[in-house]
Formats: sequence, C-alpha cells, structure tokens
Amino acid sequence: MKITDEIKSVLSFIDKTITYPDIATIEGASTNPEVIVNGKKMLIFCSNNYLSTAANPRIKEAMIKAVEKYGMGSGGSRLISGNISIQQELEAKIAKFKGAEDAITFSTGYMTNTGVIPALLEPPVDSIFSYIKNKTFFADKSAVFSDQLNHASIIDGIRLSKADRFVYRHRDMNDLEDKLKHAKKYKRKLIVTDGVFSMDGDIAPLDKIMELADKYDATVMVDDAHATGILGDKGEGTADYFKLDKHPEVTMGTFTKVFGGVGGFVAGSKDLIKYLRVTARSYIFSAPIPPAIAAGIIEAIDIVEKEPERRLRLWSNINHFKNLLEENHFNTLRSETQIIPIFIGDEKKAVETTRRLADLGFFVPCVRWPAVAHGQSILRLTLMADHTKEQINALTEALIKVRKEVGF
Ligand code: PMP
Repeated sequence: MKITDEIKSVLSFIDKTITYPDIATIEGASTNPEVIVNGKKMLIFCSNNYLSTAANPRIKEAMIKAVEKYGMGSGGSRLISGNISIQQELEAKIAKFKGAEDAITFSTGYMTNTGVIPALLEPPVDSIFSYIKNKTFFADKSAVFSDQLNHASIIDGIRLSKADRFVYRHRDMNDLEDKLKHAKKYKRKLIVTDGVFSMDGDIAPLDKIMELADKYDATVMVDDAHATGILGDKGEGTADYFKLDKHPEVTMGTFTKVFGGVGGFVAGSKDLIKYLRVTARSYIFSAPIPPAIAAGIIEAIDIVEKEPERRLRLWSNINHFKNLLEENHFNTLRSETQIIPIFIGDEKKAVETTRRLADLGFFVPCVRWPAVAHGQSILRLTLMADHTKEQINALTEALIKVRKEVGF
C-alpha cells in the first residue's frame, strides 16, 4: 500500500469519528479582544497574548525601524552566518528579566525544548566529547522524569534522546520521589516540568521539585512558557512565585505568549548557555529569530517590565471570571491562572458548545480526543489584560445559555 492510500483512509476515519477541525480564519489582528472571525465580529478568548502587548504601537514602531535596518531574514544559522547584534541584545534582555546570568534564543519554543532536552541528556556532539578524559560520565545512560501533563514539545524533546523515561503522575511528588528512589543507578537525572500547565492552567509544585532534586542529585528544567510575565511579583515566572532562593538550573520560555511574538529561550548560568550553543541541534542547524522580531520582543520585554499594571489587570480579570464560573457551578478543573478550562466531557457536546458560542459572538475553542483522553473534552479559555469586565460578564451569560441548550 502506498502512504498516500493510507492517508486517505486515516482522513476518512477522522471525518467519520471526530470531524476534521474547522479552523477559523481571522481577518486583521488576532490578538485584541475583538477580532473578525470568518467575516464576523467576535470576542476572542483563546489568545496567549495574555498581557495584551502584541499590537502595542511601541512594538510596531521598533519592528518597522528594524525592518528598514535589517530587512527580513537573518541569512542563516548563527554558527555559520554570525550573530546579529540585536539577537545578542535580546538574549541579554531576557536573561535580566528572568534573573539569570545568560540566555540563548531559538526560533520557536517547540524547537527550544526539542533541542535543549536531548543536549542535556546526551551531549550529541560525540566527536567533541570523545576527547574529554572523563568520557565515562558522558557515556552513562541518563534518566528523565517528566510530569504526565507536560507540553508536547517536552515529550518530543525526550523522545529525541535515548534516555530512560519516567513519567510521574501529574504534580504527584510521592510518585516523583518513588521514581527517583528507584533510579539511583543513573548518573545524570533531569526532572522536567511545565511551570504553568498549558491545558489545565495549574502550577507545578516547583518548591517541592527543587527539594527532591537536591535530595536525589537531579537537575531541574522548568518550562515557563505560560508563567513568564504572569507569576511572581515581577512576572519573572514560577521560581519567583515560590520565592525560591535557588532557581532551577534550566528555565525555558517562549516569546509567543506575554511578549506577543515568536521564538523561544533558555535562561541559566553562563556555562549552561555556552554549552547549549554548541550542543542544541535546533540552535546549531536552524536559522534564528529574524532581527525585526527580536526588536519587537525587546520592546515587549520592556513593556512587561515597566507596566506591571498589565499583570494586575489580568489577575483582576482572572479572579472576576473564576468567581463567576464558581457561582454558576462550572467545573474549571484545577486552574489557578489565566488558562481556564471548562470541563464538558462528551466530544460532540464540546464541538456543539464551541459552535453555539461562535453564533453568539464568542471565539472559544474546545480541546478533544486525541489531544485529551476520550470523553474528557474541555473548553480552553484564556484571558488577557485588555478584556473588560463587561466582556467577561457577557461570555459568562453565553456559557450559561449554551450549557442549558447543549446539556453538559
Ligand atoms: N511549552 C509550552 C508549555 C507551551 O504551551 C508551548 C506552546 N503553546 C510551547 C512550549 C511551544 O512554544 P512555541 O509556540 O513558541 O513553539
């Protein structure tokens, strides 16, 4: 059978069982609360532009200037084509924001995790390490401990390594400790977790994870994609939220969320960053963030740093919406942040809920099998600083109406 024949049968299975996702087309900016979806004005509740920075005039101006100066692309990967000064400026800026010695950037957050995790677990440049005297350390097998609900990019990063994997139950520290106890034979142990979980919006117990890491001599990597700019007094992320004296050795994040752009980063010690520049394959063999995007992100970091009122407005929206949902007995699972799931369960009901909300002018996606387990569909709502209380009230009214009609 040809692969193309198989594709046909897979597509027909998808159409029969879950219906192929009907992706909306947005005209104009997709990051403001009001958007034009399939030609109709709607309120969007699924953007990760949490601090409403993406369309900021200062960012646009910085990007336009950078386009005039640099043009579009960067000309090639940095090891071959060189560092553009603005990329180094961005790395210094994000390192400072995250309270780290140094930082390295990648063209996406996905590529950050898929490049960094294998580099930490097994130095991929065998030829370099064969010259190291204590070669056996590098030759030993690694173990990685990963939360059950970690993001797909973490899972794929782990898959790209040959390390032994131990998936611990979601946020379950007893299970993690149990697995660490039984993995004493591994010299290199990496615990990796989302800071804020991308579907459920709950927070990893990073304080406890750090204690266990100390006890069992493991390294910790936190994915702060949804925590950067949001958690902690200054928005530094999960470590700031827990007021940790010592940060995890590896903190990654993305520029797609509060900074409203695209790209990923790792913040950590000078040595870690120096090491990743020659071992993370997605950094070595791929072109970097284009200069104009780097210019926009630098401005966005500045805005997030200097305008903490954005974070306060977002948290005020989160508390307001959570109270409304609780009063009206919606099941928001474990959400503690701007990512707020509403449990529906049945796939067809979830799709129908999204359709009816769209008819009422609300753009709210549902997440269903195979992204979540069968019968565990959710609506995944996200809030932004620029949503008004009136818009949130109107959404709540619509949710109450649609729940009655669909019956969940
Ligand atoms: N980590 C987490 C927790 C994420 O949610 C995402 C994307 N939503 C990524 C990594 C990947 O980031 P990017 O979109 O920048 O590739």
